[in-house]
Order: sequence, then C-alpha cells, then structure tokens
Amino acid sequence: MSQTKVLVTGAGGFIGHHLVKFLRAKGYWVRGVDVKYPEYSEVDADEFEILDLRRWDNCLQATRGVDEVYGLAADMGGMGFISAHHSEILHNNSLINIHTLEAARVNGVKRYFYTSSACIYPDYKQTDANVVPLKEEDAYPAQPQDAYGWEKLVMERLCTHYRQDYGLETRIVRFHNIFGEEGTWDGGREKAPAALSRKIAIAKLTGKHEIEMWGDGEQTRSFCHVDDCLEGIYRLMRSDHTSPLNLGSDRMVTINQLAESIADIAGIKITIKHIPGPMGVRGRNSDNTRLREVLKWEPQISLEDGLARAYPWIEGQVRQKLGL
Ligand code: NAD
Repeated sequence: MSQTKVLVTGAGGFIGHHLVKFLRAKGYWVRGVDVKYPEYSEVDADEFEILDLRRWDNCLQATRGVDEVYGLAADMGGMGFISAHHSEILHNNSLINIHTLEAARVNGVKRYFYTSSACIYPDYKQTDANVVPLKEEDAYPAQPQDAYGWEKLVMERLCTHYRQDYGLETRIVRFHNIFGEEGTWDGGREKAPAALSRKIAIAKLTGKHEIEMWGDGEQTRSFCHVDDCLEGIYRLMRSDHTSPLNLGSDRMVTINQLAESIADIAGIKITIKHIPGPMGVRGRNSDNTRLREVLKWEPQISLEDGLARAYPWIEGQVRQKLGL
C-alpha cells in the first residue's frame, strides 16, 4: 500500500507542530504549512512551506497531492488577544478556512479535519463558575462570546455542508484549553496555563513571589495536555463520527487552583494579586459522554502530570530569556 500523504496547516504553531511529529511517527508523509516556522524546535515535516492561507492560490498549492488535510491554521491567542481583535480574527480565519476547504475539494482531498473550539458555546450556558458541563448539542441557539467563536461555528457548518453536498469526509473537533510544551508562553497570544507558568517561573527565579492575575481567579475551566489532544485527533479522524465532538478534560478547576498547582510544581509559595483584565466566560467544562462513546477513550493525563511536563519547559525558556 502506498504511504498516505497529509497536509497539516498551522504546522508552525503549538498543536500543529506536535501533530506533524505524531503523524510522521504513525507512518504518514506530512507536508506542513504556516506563515512561520516552529519557534522552539526544528521542522519535523517531510516538506514545509511558508504560505499565507488567507490567499486562494496558496491554499491550492498547500492542498495539492494530499489525501487528507488537518486544518489547524488560525489567527488566535488567549483571552487577552481574542477579546481585543474581533475584526482581524473573523476576517483572517474566515479567509483561511473557506479557501483551504474549497481548495481541498478542488484538489480531490478525501478527508478533512477541522479544529473548532469550546469558544463556540453560548455565553448564557457559562454564567456560573459551577457550570453544567457542555454537551455538543448545547451549541444552539448560538451565542458565542467572541468573533473567534462565531467564525468557528460557521466553519463547522461549512464543513458539514461540504460533506453532505460534495462527499468530502469532514471531521470536526471542539478543543477545550489544550496546553503543553512548546506552546506560546509570551508576546501577548499566550493562554492562561502558559502565562501563569511564565509568571511563576519569573517569581521563582527572581525571588519575588507575587504574581498578577486577571480577574478574581474564581472563573473555572478544564485543561487538556497536548499528548492527549493528539491521540483524540487521531481517533476522531479515523472514526466515522461526522458531527462536532468535544475534546478536552472534564475536570474543572478555578484559575486560582491552576496557579497553585503550577506553584507546587515550581516548588514555591505564591501570593496572587488580582488585577482588572479579560476573563472570558465565568465557567466552562466539557461533557465527555459522547467523546467516550465515539472514541472508546478519554484524556488520560491528569492536570498535575501535564503541568509537570509543561512547566519545566517554560521555566527553561524563561531562564534562557533572563540569561540565568
Ligand atoms: P497556534 O496559534 O499555536 O497555531 C496556529 C498557527 O496558525 C500559527 O502557527 C499561525 O502562524 C498559523 N497561521 C495564522 N495565520 C495563518 C495564515 N494566514 N496562513 C497560514 N498559517 C497561519 O494555535 P494552536 O493552539 O496550535 O491551535 C491550533 C488550532 O486549534 C487553531 O485552529 C485553534 O483555533 C484551535 N484551538 C486551539 C485551542 C487551544 O487550547 N490551543 C482551543 C480551541 C481551538
């Protein structure tokens, strides 16, 4: 049998870079595409092309000669970024996804993986820190908090229509807060686990054990390590499940608890100074009932074990930056 050829878009980013390595280890031939090279380690793809996927001609080039596409490219970041760049996010991500999906169809791609997000869930279901975990069907009536979520929701529908109208097999995942080694940890696009790890690493290395946190820290989330995310992506892509599926942990913690867990791993005691800042929805958790049914599996890595892998990597980055 000939080797399956796949394209990973966003291969210079956090999950995309890990996915390239994972798929190559499974025996696939992998082309990676992004507007940038991976920031923290070497390219691992068989072929890597720098292409801006907002452009149709670049999408045709990226999707040529491949059997499958994993669409991870997105203009995105943590709450700080998402809550302050609505137009840019909606504009750029719509162009990327509309063009990549259509180019995949034109080039005869057989299977297409779309990365949606828990950010598609409606605001009105996430007003309480002690939130009821979100089931896939809770997406409607729709009311995502940000433009980022609205774009993801529309593209979920576009993928569904392409499958129904053109027979392109689409698979749709809704990630819930994926974290891990080689994720963005500074510069304004970092998410809570990486931002807090950076602050705690700086606290440890400088001996000033006070860190700042946006809001009161009582908002809740669940966090999933990237290695579990990769396994979930793989299982969903190989499954015959066509509607959107949650992929994340269903263990909810407050952001204050997340910070304390990271401090424990760093081996320091911290004081948290709460300052005004974007917090996102008050509570969010994943209902994994369907995930377990469909994938015969669920994330295996505990929050503490995941942080014990990710934190030392960020501390190493901070040490390098501070010249320590
Ligand atoms: P990331 O920002 O690390 O990776 C996205 C990559 O897309 C970046 O490398 C970026 O350069 C690239 N990109 C942006 N604009 C591009 C363009 N015009 N052309 C080509 N490439 C472009 O993010 P990530 O955490 O790896 O997320 C991957 C996917 O998963 C994204 O679609 C994201 O929306 C989705 N997602 C992630 C999370 C999470 O917790 N990390 C949660 C929900 C959904």
